[in-house]
Amino acid sequence: MGFLYRSTRNENETATASEAILKGLAEEGGLFVPDEIPELDVSFEELAAMDYKGVAYEVMSRMLTDFTEDELMYCINGAYDKKFDTELIAPVKYHHGAYILELFHGKTIAFKDMALSILPYLMTTAAKKNNIDKEIVILTATSGDTGKAALAGFADVPGTRIAVFYPKNGVSPIQEKQMVTEKGANTFVAGITGNFDDAQTGVKKMFSDKTLAEYLDEKGFQFSSANSINIGRLVPQMVYYVYAYTRLVAAGTVKPGDEINVVVPTGNFGNILAAYYASEMGLPVKKFICASNDNKVLYDFFATGEYDRNREFILTTSPSMDILISSNLERLIYRIAGNDAEKNSELMKSLAETGKYEITDEMKKNLYKFYGNFATTEEVASTIHNVYAEDGYVLDTHTAVAVNVYDKYKADTEDDTPTIIASTASPYKFARSVVEALVDTGNESAKLSTDSLDDFALVDELEKLSAVKIPQAVEEIRTAPVMHETVCDKEEMESVVKNFLGI
Ligand SMILES: *Cc1c(COP(=O)(O)O)cnc(C)c1O
Repeated sequence: MGFLYRSTRNENETATASEAILKGLAEEGGLFVPDEIPELDVSFEELAAMDYKGVAYEVMSRMLTDFTEDELMYCINGAYDKKFDTELIAPVKYHHGAYILELFHGKTIAFKDMALSILPYLMTTAAKKNNIDKEIVILTATSGDTGKAALAGFADVPGTRIAVFYPKNGVSPIQEKQMVTEKGANTFVAGITGNFDDAQTGVKKMFSDKTLAEYLDEKGFQFSSANSINIGRLVPQMVYYVYAYTRLVAAGTVKPGDEINVVVPTGNFGNILAAYYASEMGLPVKKFICASNDNKVLYDFFATGEYDRNREFILTTSPSMDILISSNLERLIYRIAGNDAEKNSELMKSLAETGKYEITDEMKKNLYKFYGNFATTEEVASTIHNVYAEDGYVLDTHTAVAVNVYDKYKADTEDDTPTIIASTASPYKFARSVVEALVDTGNESAKLSTDSLDDFALVDELEKLSAVKIPQAVEEIRTAPVMHETVCDKEEMESVVKNFLGI
């Protein structure tokens, strides 16, 4: 089948799905994008009768056209199994006037598991299909959640190694503990003295370094990426939007074809882009509501048409969204420019050189389905507090950004279309910020008592408050020994990777 992926920066660079997954990134920093998204030619009623794996097959087979049915089913069955703590994989729950799509029931209790539990299967299958005899080295920059999810996925997978870089002072203590206690023999984890953008820029630099690629090739290695710049991350993320919609169809909440809104707490723009791709496949979405924290570069972009990263980087209570360069926005820019690699390259060059770019009025018109807003750190805390007061449901800090922005959207528009909110992490992952928000915010002595507790004591506190059992992922790391102690500058990233590979 002729469904090709193409670089956002060079219309002549094409790849099959399996090649695009293996490469991760196109040449010269481009991202692989599908030429066009095929229509999902299965009815919503039929999909509503399928389980998660069934929906996953229907959606993914349309996008990964060079995988056989057997290959894809092997990947899906390997990924969406008992690693998830519910057979539903991604349950939908109604709270605060919206359908909360819980994407945190996988091994590392963040939504990254949805794609990273299948990516290693897709990657090793793609390697086999393409007769790759090199060891694949996954390079990953993480704002906190990708790191552990990727480590968990690739740990001890034959033919692969994985190196993860995280901002040393920019992740939650639980997130850090999850990563540095990773036992897989093929894994490497380093904190960098910089922020997520520094880590991501360093990783992208290694990817586009041709001399380094040749050297690796000589030594029997090749790089790939587990970040959402890899199309193998985005395609599995399209699945749960279709899945959630068809659960609403099954429940009779929406009629097949009725529109919904989706709200996505956004950082690197991968999750919301997957929703957009799902809509191009036929999911009826009225508005894509893009929720940002204090690092509101996307809110400003949707408001003005100018993307400007020249601003202070703010550390918030939703660290996985502390990002000023949203890599996947490039894929949307390419699309709204009419699949124009030249125009996109020009804008991305401007971003690299001046830290900003401005889209044309014509392109801006194509963004009419997007709504952006943001929630401050105080608003996040009060949202967690208030939703808990309503019915005892505990939001994590990232999901609270989304819920707060949804409230603002409704106030702005009075739109009452049924709405799905992507819930991207378990509150246990951010126990300190969540417990502080739950205890009476005006109560000084309650605040003092949380200050004196360590993060695992707060986890116990949260169990009492939420009546949700402490996830296995948290219990596991409580007493686990630290396996990774490297801290380096961003300039040292290449040398620590070589060191890890023994070359
Ligand atoms: C990664 C992450 C996000 C942001 O997702 P993007 O795809 O990067 O926009 C939001 N919330 C949590 C908990 C995350 O781990």
